[in-house]
Amino acid sequence: MNIVILSRNPNLYSTQRLVEEAQGRGHDVEIIDPLKCDIIIEKQKPTIYYKDRYLDYVDAVIPRIGASVTFYGCAVVRQFEEMGVFTIAASDAILRSRDKLRSLQRLTRAGIGMPKTVFTNYSRDVEEVIEHVGGTPVIIKLLEGTQGLGVVLAETKNAAESVLEAFNGLQARVIVQEFIKEAKGADIRALVVDGQVVGAMKRQGKDGEFRSNLHRGGSAEIIKLEHDELKLAMNAARVLKLPVCGVDMLQSARGPLLLEVNSTPGLEGIEGATGRNIARAIITFIERNR
Ligand code: ADP
Ligand code: GLU
Repeated sequence: MNIVILSRNPNLYSTQRLVEEAQGRGHDVEIIDPLKCDIIIEKQKPTIYYKDRYLDYVDAVIPRIGASVTFYGCAVVRQFEEMGVFTIAASDAILRSRDKLRSLQRLTRAGIGMPKTVFTNYSRDVEEVIEHVGGTPVIIKLLEGTQGLGVVLAETKNAAESVLEAFNGLQARVIVQEFIKEAKGADIRALVVDGQVVGAMKRQGKDGEFRSNLHRGGSAEIIKLEHDELKLAMNAARVLKLPVCGVDMLQSARGPLLLEVNSTPGLEGIEGATGRNIARAIITFIERNR
């Protein structure tokens, strides 16, 4: 098969691993920068021009589209879809998953548990917002944040007020969330491929840190998921129509609670922690579905 990895950075671990596994299984692989693709829209002949050629021989694409290039990247994926090319993540599903609030709305409707969350446009009623999520401490999160940046733990009402004021002053959109104390600074990342959990790790924040992100100095180890955790991960992937994704959740007294779903999950942390060959699982998923 001819497989294209849509990525701006050929040197990333995840990109490298996908190339390695695809080649190991006899496929031709190219890494293509989506921003260098021209989308050619013509009656009954949609195509893509890249450097000096038409990409009309591609069998499957693996989108690895960063948040900052979501719009154009998804337009390129959509064009491949129009050309009848198989993609492990549909353009619409990537777009929808990038909208955190919208995703949470869809996921609760599907009965998936999550920390109690408030999104407000009216910042004066801080007290009421805090009451809605069960009182302080509360988590305040930038809707556009990643890697744990823009996630704040406010211990008191005064602290929460100041943080909300600061974010509002910057015109940033935030959600206020119930703080899940029992999680003890840890979260779970389940890697879903072909709708099934193929690996899971527990990430623990460094001492005194409630955020477990590896980018924030957290550490990861393999974990065997409980039945309800497996179910939550697979349900979330199904609801968001992402057969390949990373599902983050917290362990709480009332069962697993969903934090977010990532349409371009990193492979380094999860392969390192679990010893599983996730890149190969993604390639064989393509082989089965193309
Ligand atoms: P990001 O998308 O920036 O990683 P997350 O929502 O995943 O943001 O939050 C980062 C980390 O903060 C999580 O991995 C988790 O450890 C911690 N965290 C997030 N929300 C809560 C919460 N409601 N209660 C307790 N800890 C949380
Ligand atoms: N893109 C990375 C992932 O999805 C982010 C990991 C992190 O937030 O630490 O795995």
